[in-house]
Amino acid sequence: MNSYDLPLAIVIAVLGAAFGSFFNVLVYRIPRKESIIFPGSHCPACNRKIPPWLNIPIFSWILLGGKCKYCKTAIHWHYLILEILTPLVFLGVFMVYGSENLFLVLKYCLFFGFGLVILFIDFFERIIPDVISLPLILTGIVFSFFPANDITWKLSLLGGVITFGFFYLIGLWYLLTRKKEGMGGGDIKYIAAIGTFFGPINSLFIIIVACAVALVIMIPLLRFKKEYFPFGPFLVIASYIVMFFHESMFSTITTLTY
Ligand SMILES: [Zn+2]
Repeated sequence: MNSYDLPLAIVIAVLGAAFGSFFNVLVYRIPRKESIIFPGSHCPACNRKIPPWLNIPIFSWILLGGKCKYCKTAIHWHYLILEILTPLVFLGVFMVYGSENLFLVLKYCLFFGFGLVILFIDFFERIIPDVISLPLILTGIVFSFFPANDITWKLSLLGGVITFGFFYLIGLWYLLTRKKEGMGGGDIKYIAAIGTFFGPINSLFIIIVACAVALVIMIPLLRFKKEYFPFGPFLVIASYIVMFFHESMFSTITTLTY
């Protein structure tokens, strides 16, 4: 840890809270097919505009007691949670890659920031919107062309193609044999984004971890109701776990070599 790290960490936390606020807008508006920019922040219940001084992440929610100032309708809990979670997730990325690798901090803050949006939308609406997963696939590839990236562009492309191809075939097989959709197309596109960001090897780890976490959490629940469960949140959580695990493993190996 060097002397730039603390001020930088504070900047990242503040940016995280601001982005969390923006991600809340995406979580609410994308499934409703509303414009992201217009109209500005407003209460979904009474449509009144929210002035900037009541739009400060975290503080405004607490100040207003989780209710609209005008009509007193409760503001959904995801607004507060995402504004707290985003800076924490960003700081986690910063902890892993540090100030000496800001390129990767940016890359993974982007990935996990929009990952949080996917986590919440999939949890609430059972969809992973193309407007997030498709640009993410492309972003992973674009980042791979920079020398500071952790995987080469060949591995990025290969990661995307292999993961997409494999799950597309599984989905097709399931559809043909069971006559119903087993894995949503949204899941497959998001897995392809994981592929272009992490490359084929780590993507495989992520998918294994996601299945393991999903099994542990979902098996007790499946006894009560047999229905489709959102896989997206597990993929996001598994990616985060693998990011931490992979980096610590990598640094252990390099420490041993020196
Ligand atoms: Zn209101």
